[in-house]
Amino acid sequence: MTAPPCGTCGACCRELLVPVNGYDVWRISRQLNLQPKEYIVALKRKKNQEGGIKLSTDGESVSLALAKKTEMRPGNSCVFLLEFKNNESRCAVYSNRPSTCRVYPMVYRKGIVTNHEEALCPETEWLKTREMELIWKEEMEQRALQDQLYKNVVDTWNQKFLVSRKLHRYTIEEFYDYLIALYDTFGFGEAFEPDRVKSIISNSFSS
Ligand code: SF4
Ligand code: SF4
Repeated sequence: MTAPPCGTCGACCRELLVPVNGYDVWRISRQLNLQPKEYIVALKRKKNQEGGIKLSTDGESVSLALAKKTEMRPGNSCVFLLEFKNNESRCAVYSNRPSTCRVYPMVYRKGIVTNHEEALCPETEWLKTREMELIWKEEMEQRALQDQLYKNVVDTWNQKFLVSRKLHRYTIEEFYDYLIALYDTFGFGEAFEPDRVKSIISNSFSS
């Protein structure tokens, strides 16, 4: 297999915004003993836009992404990117990196793993091997399950605003506490367990 050019590239770790799901946050926080606020930013969404984490009864909601070392704009490095003088770079949390990073630069369309049209990778040969295709397919299936679980977790959090009649606000730290405590109860080990996630979704969140 052709070696990935990531070590001398790091383009995606600088240019892109990396959304994270609940499993990503739980894994990084527990494996690396970090507080979410040390590596995540909560990005404001448009008022009443579907799908976000609600923080108040007036419709304010946010979504989570990896922080950058400086301002949150393209070109600034991910908070976890280690950069060396010889222009090489490494991910400091590689084995625990978020699912978005695990699947980049591939997308899954109609059951086929294929290159993202606007992939930032300087070389594309390494993307095409059968071995890599199988790895990405598995990562994408895992990510879909994680996202499904996370949607249920966020929906459950958001439901508290449905019963509240007066203006109430929560801080993002309160959401982080809820998230980590809930994922702790799921009993995940170090390796991702698809069957456990499926079971949690059907037993804890089916209506
Ligand atoms: S842009 Fe492609 S080659 Fe560069 S670091 Fe990201 S995945 Fe690796
Ligand atoms: S977590 Fe790692 S792989 Fe993902 S953007 Fe940051 S440095 Fe890159």
